[in-house]
Amino acid sequence: MRVFFLSLAIFAVTACSPDEEVAHEEATQQKEPVDISHDYFSFANTDQFVTDHVNLDLTVDFALKELRGVAILKMRRLDPEATHIILDTRDLHIDGVLVNDSESEFEYAQTDKVLGQALKITLPAGLEQQQDLDVTIHYRTDPSASALQWLPPELTAGGKHPYMFSQSQSIHARSWVPLQDTPSVRITYEATIHTPPELLAVMSADNDPLTTRTGEYSFTMPQPIPSYLLAIAVGNIYFAPIGEQTGIYTEPELLDASTFEFASTQQMLETAESMYGPYQWGRYDLLVLPPSFPFGGMENPRLSFITPSVLAGDSSLVSLIAHELAHSWSGNLVSNKTWRDIWLNEGTTSYLDSRLMEVLFGKDRADEERVLSYRELQLGLKEISPAMQALAPMELLDDPDESQGSLHYHKGQLFLQHLENLYGRETFDPFLAAYFKHFEFQSISSEQFLDYLDLNLLQKYPGKFSRSQAEEWLYQPGIPADAPVPQSETLVQAARLATSWAAGEVPVEEIPLSNWSPQATVHFINNLPIELSEVQLSELDSSFGFSQSRNAEIGRAWFIQVAVRRHLPAYKAMEEHLNRYGRTRLIYPVYLALAKNGEDADLADELFTGARSKYHPLTIIRIESGLKALKE
Ligand SMILES: [Zn+2]
Repeated sequence: MRVFFLSLAIFAVTACSPDEEVAHEEATQQKEPVDISHDYFSFANTDQFVTDHVNLDLTVDFALKELRGVAILKMRRLDPEATHIILDTRDLHIDGVLVNDSESEFEYAQTDKVLGQALKITLPAGLEQQQDLDVTIHYRTDPSASALQWLPPELTAGGKHPYMFSQSQSIHARSWVPLQDTPSVRITYEATIHTPPELLAVMSADNDPLTTRTGEYSFTMPQPIPSYLLAIAVGNIYFAPIGEQTGIYTEPELLDASTFEFASTQQMLETAESMYGPYQWGRYDLLVLPPSFPFGGMENPRLSFITPSVLAGDSSLVSLIAHELAHSWSGNLVSNKTWRDIWLNEGTTSYLDSRLMEVLFGKDRADEERVLSYRELQLGLKEISPAMQALAPMELLDDPDESQGSLHYHKGQLFLQHLENLYGRETFDPFLAAYFKHFEFQSISSEQFLDYLDLNLLQKYPGKFSRSQAEEWLYQPGIPADAPVPQSETLVQAARLATSWAAGEVPVEEIPLSNWSPQATVHFINNLPIELSEVQLSELDSSFGFSQSRNAEIGRAWFIQVAVRRHLPAYKAMEEHLNRYGRTRLIYPVYLALAKNGEDADLADELFTGARSKYHPLTIIRIESGLKALKE
């Protein structure tokens, strides 16, 4: 259960676990304005000490489901008076701490359900004036570490070897490395990883495609990154190139399908460089993970982690790759300073990925995806409290993973689309390239973005858009009245046909679905009128094979309808969908629709119980909390 509410008071209370209901009510009534300079999702005393570099030496133990070893944090003192270092941890077992080779006392000073445990390290005597500190921590992770998933062989594509991967965003790096787990601090890192000799380790670092399997692998990440971009995966992983500086890491069983599906990656990278400036990270590879990866992708630098659910066989879902690649500029190069500023990462990246898709796959396809994104924004607004509908909320986020749904993606994208429309691409593209250059390798706040925008666009080209209009996007709920509304002729036609077929005006044979993109098909399904008969639903499924679709987005859209409408003939296929994918986006709304249809709350529980061993801890938490909330 992770839907609960932080209040400022929580920081004055140690090691207590307040009743969630009470905490919820109090927080709802007494939200206080945010001190936006502070990262509320970290315990670390970053105003007193800051980490520049992390050195890891970790053994990957599949039998015990733990990483164990040593983290050395190279830290700098900012405050001459400071006597303690506070680090973020979650469920770590700490065996000992040394500061500059002297043994140090340590304790868990605070515990919080969202934040984890604050590790308070007392500086040994004699180090009071020391500027540079090497903090050495001997530790091991817990099998329940929220960032790590340990897969038995049967949940991998090959079925013979175990697999482990991390997902550190937003605040889960602390569950596998003790550190200052805030995006406001950037670190370089190096690591030595020990694995069973037949397996390969990869990290968000300088992976070498030619590495031989030895069971000991070394990595360096020379560019400073926020901790949420620390990433590791270990499994029966092999490499195949797809371009000069691009390639695929995955299990051998998925290698051919992946190189085929993502063949456009090198071209995407070159397109992005031509628009937004040099790619600053060396290689750009993709790690295609087992199905339980909870997200679509994770923009771990140099090595994006990708769900296999986008292996549709026709490159129809590669906007995901455009998205993760675009993060090499928006997010990884210029990062959000706190999770309250996450729209700077996700909104900007969504805008960038739509631009890349337009260059590579044409305006029609990009427009279709813009319309679908806009629709998700409109639906999402109904679920999100007004305060959290601001791009940069002035109240505390409840949980960095969940507070805003997907609003920061879609509303952020729309904001930048609006600016593009006002200033024209010939002005706006160079503005964005200069913005990435100006803030490269920094973590910035929404207010820094606003000041930069004001100075370099609004004041430079006066009379088009005012600072107060920009502030409306950042700080007000909803969508400003003059916001653009994306349009797609194909999608308009698809929606129209959904209605006219349902009304009996058009026979099913005249729906040109085989000529449509999967995006248009999804839009058609989403626009089916609520009063369809069972016979009509069966006609659709037998004509178009929605229940058997290899396209995960079509499956998602269809099985939501199946669950909402209790279309029992497709329940078996729906169960298969829920077992085939572990990506939260593809399954969570199906469970929710099932639990909400008035008859199937128990069935939703039952199907979830049957499938949960295949899901990532973050996905499990999300579905559990969603189903539980419906019962309250
Ligand atoms: Zn993203």
